[in-house]
Amino acid sequence: MVIGIPRALLYYNFFPWWKVFLETLGNEVVVSSKTNKAILDAGVKNSVDEACLPVKVMFGHILDLKDKGVDYIFIPRIVSVEKNRYLCAKFLGLPDLVKAMLDDIPPIIELEINHYKGERAFDREIMRFGRIFTRNIRQIKEAREKADRVQGEYERLLKEMTANDALRILFGAHVSPEKKQYGMKIGLIGHSYDIYDEYINMSIIEKLNDMDCQVITADMLTEKQIAQGASHIKKDMFWTYGRQLLGSGLYFLDEQNVDGVILVTAFGCGPDSLIKEIIEREYKRRNTLPLLCLTIDEQSGEAGLQTRLEAFVDLLRLKEAVGR
Ligand code: SF4
Repeated sequence: MVIGIPRALLYYNFFPWWKVFLETLGNEVVVSSKTNKAILDAGVKNSVDEACLPVKVMFGHILDLKDKGVDYIFIPRIVSVEKNRYLCAKFLGLPDLVKAMLDDIPPIIELEINHYKGERAFDREIMRFGRIFTRNIRQIKEAREKADRVQGEYERLLKEMTANDALRILFGAHVSPEKKQYGMKIGLIGHSYDIYDEYINMSIIEKLNDMDCQVITADMLTEKQIAQGASHIKKDMFWTYGRQLLGSGLYFLDEQNVDGVILVTAFGCGPDSLIKEIIEREYKRRNTLPLLCLTIDEQSGEAGLQTRLEAFVDLLRLKEAVGR
């Protein structure tokens, strides 16, 4: 079978697992094109107005796969990727939303990723999913082992790489290899689909590199560092990726190991509007590290982004020059 995978949302986190599992069971995997104007426009036109920008982009990628000769489109229902934490409601209902909104697309196959229910339930779900392609249980187990191995390697690489190299090597971006030395370090925090999709963020990592700034993302921090940052808030944050944003933002603030922090959020994201508020308040209260908050939407213009980044980097340089 030919299975289409949309290059959107948690594609940036879990694509290696999905691809290896599906291919090991004898399928061919086709990925949608990189995000472009046609994909964004189609997504905006065919999804609900209330959806956040990344979900609209997802719709555009699903439509892009329509003409790529795929037999099925893979849309996971991602409920929870770790114990005791959830993802935002958009991930939970994504296959239903797509079925309700889009006619005339290839049939959808779903995998429920839900670690909240415990590992045994997840094992059973993988078996159910694997049986769509083969009745051979041993083959499904082997595919899972191989996919787990490759995913582990991918996550290790993402931690070790610079943001620029991750873009270039893992996501095929046309950016130049990482320089050895930069004048400044910037913490860039945001969801993977906001900071690694070059079209919707207008190549923010490359722009910062061109301004002589090295970029450190939340993916490069350890769980211990993220937990340190997140511990400043009394109540445990139950959204996995929201906690990653909050934890990395407050970790940078604690350690002062970057010259400034940029927080990228998407228009229409409920969880991010809350997290942004908490981060902004804490940065304002301590007043020790500059923070720039950027909200991207379908109307965002490149010239405006460039101006804001340049102004922010100029401010960091001035701060360094006057020694405060
Ligand atoms: S976390 Fe925010 S940006 Fe991501 S899918 Fe949910 S609402 Fe959209």
